[in-house]
Amino acid sequence: MPKLSIVIPCFNEEESIPLFINQITLIASGMPTVTFEYIFVDDGSSDGTLQVLRRLSAENKQIRYISFSHNFGKEAALLAGLEAANGDYIAVMDADLQDPPELLPKMYAALTDEGFDCAATHRVTRKGEPPIRSFFAGIFYKLINKISDTQMVNGARDFRLMTRQMVDAILSLKEYNRFSKGLFSWVGFSTKWIEFENVPRVAGKSKWNFWKLFLYSLDGITAFSVKPLAVSSLFGLFLCMLAFIGIVFIIVRWLINGDPVAGWASTVTIILFVGGIQLFCTGILGQYLAKSYLEGKHRPVYIVKDSSDKG
Ligand code: UDP
Ligand code: MG
Repeated sequence: MPKLSIVIPCFNEEESIPLFINQITLIASGMPTVTFEYIFVDDGSSDGTLQVLRRLSAENKQIRYISFSHNFGKEAALLAGLEAANGDYIAVMDADLQDPPELLPKMYAALTDEGFDCAATHRVTRKGEPPIRSFFAGIFYKLINKISDTQMVNGARDFRLMTRQMVDAILSLKEYNRFSKGLFSWVGFSTKWIEFENVPRVAGKSKWNFWKLFLYSLDGITAFSVKPLAVSSLFGLFLCMLAFIGIVFIIVRWLINGDPVAGWASTVTIILFVGGIQLFCTGILGQYLAKSYLEGKHRPVYIVKDSSDKG
């Protein structure tokens, strides 16, 4: 029988996990030709998530867990889960039931019957989400798809089912700064997109605030495009040309009018403007430098403190 592993990153999800397990076992019972394995990754939760996982895993051998020594972020949790999964098919799902488990049979059929390597999901609406978040998400996807060769779908969730082959490809990418939405797309393979309506969380709160999402989008941009570096060079070139025109203008005016010292206000404005652009571009450079600094340290992406596999 083929085995389907489900990877579930969890950060303070003590209330959601039991509800999630109820739902998913219901769906699993409707797929009798498949054996299931659940890999919960406790991303350094401060609530009772780990206790819940220990209890569930003692009751049900299909439930495995990995627990981090502190909060390493969802990307690290995803990696740990994918590394631990040994199914023929591997799914990634959130613990809060925002990824409807009812879609699983359809996704599975896309892989087994229709020959796709991956079945991914995206929300047709972002209903129920703060409008400001949807607005900036829209801008982010427009921007990243313009400046990166890796295309990313607006509204795409991390909820997807993949073949072993595709997961092995993802695991072969050893980078430290992981932006999964991009990695899934970068490795290629054929993907079937399945749409669904946005569903609110069953319990608990979203772990993302505006600032966290903003930083996450910067991670995405620096991980999948180096165009900002080129843009900052072009900016510099453009300002040099402007300065050159300015010099010619001043010389000509001096030849015609003599040398009236006027216009200090505009001079100050220009200095501030140029200084601002320079700092901005140094900042862009710094972003990339910081990323390669972190890559260069070769630190592990996560540290496991406890896991069900330890026995
Ligand atoms: N998550 C995680 N580590 C984190 C933040 C979130 O493992 O640092 C998990 C979280 O428990 C959930 C999933 O990632 O299962 C998605 O998080 P959330 O529901 O807060 O995000 P949203 O659905 O609002 O995008
Ligand atoms: Mg959620």
